[in-house]
Amino acid sequence: MWSYRHQSFTVHQLAVLRDNYIYLIEAHKSDTLIVVDPAVAVDVKIACKTLGKKLTHVFNTHHHWDHTDGNLSLKQAFDCLIVGAQHDAKRIPGIDIKVNEQQPPDIAGLNIQVIDVPGHTLGHIAFVLDDALFCGDTLFGGGCGRLFEGTPAQMLHSLDQLAALDGNSKIYCAHEYTLANLAFAQTIDPDNNALNKRIQNDQARRQQQQPTIPSSMAVELATNPMLRPLHNDFCLAYAKRNQLEKHDALTVFSDIRLKKDHW
Ligand code: ZN
Ligand code: FE
Repeated sequence: MWSYRHQSFTVHQLAVLRDNYIYLIEAHKSDTLIVVDPAVAVDVKIACKTLGKKLTHVFNTHHHWDHTDGNLSLKQAFDCLIVGAQHDAKRIPGIDIKVNEQQPPDIAGLNIQVIDVPGHTLGHIAFVLDDALFCGDTLFGGGCGRLFEGTPAQMLHSLDQLAALDGNSKIYCAHEYTLANLAFAQTIDPDNNALNKRIQNDQARRQQQQPTIPSSMAVELATNPMLRPLHNDFCLAYAKRNQLEKHDALTVFSDIRLKKDHW
C-alpha cells in the first residue's frame, strides 16, 4: 500500500489483480473512508483493518467488473453506501447514491466534483476531490481507455474536460498501463523530450516495483498521446507526418486511438 497526503485527506493505493489500482480516500477530519473502484473486496477489507477504520462509501467510476466486483461484499461487511452515476445506475451493483455533475456526493465537508466522461463506457464518471482526480478507465498514464461504448468525439470531449483541471492535479487512474502506453506514445510522438524523460523515469519506478501512478495533469498534457491532440501545434505536425488531410483535434485523436487499438 502506498499513501499520498493531500490537504484534507490521504489517498492509499492498493495494487490488485494483474494491473488494477484500488484507492482508499481517508478523510483527515471525519471518519469518512471511501474506496474507489473496488475490483476485489478482500484487499480492501485488509487495508481497512490496517487503517483501523470502517469503510463508509464505495465510489464507482463505471460498471465494469474490475471496478465493481467488490461492491456487494463490502456493503455487507461495512454497511457502506455505494455511489455511482445516476444515468448508469442499473449497471452499478448495490447502488445507493446516484450522482451527476449537478448533484455530486455530499460527504462530511469534502469538496467533491463529478465530471461526466463518456467514451470507455457511456455512463463513465470521474470524481475530483480537491487536487485529486479519480478517472477510472478514462485517462491513464500515457493513454486513455478503449472506446467500448462511446465515440472518439465523446472521449476527446471527456479528455478535454479533465485536461482543464489544474496542472498539479494528481491522476489516480485504475490501471498500471503506463509503460506500454508510453512505448506506443514514442511511435506517435518520437521527438518529444518530455516523453523520453518520462519513459526513463517510469521504467526506473517499475524496476523498483513502484507504481507510475499517480502522475500529474501537467505530465499527461506534455506526454500523453491521447491528450497531445489538444495542442494545435502537435496536430499540425502529426497530420503532416501521417499525411492526414485534416488536422483538427478530432481527426488526429481518432487516428491515434485507432492506431493504438491495432498496436
Ligand atoms: Zn473499464
Ligand atoms: Fe478497468
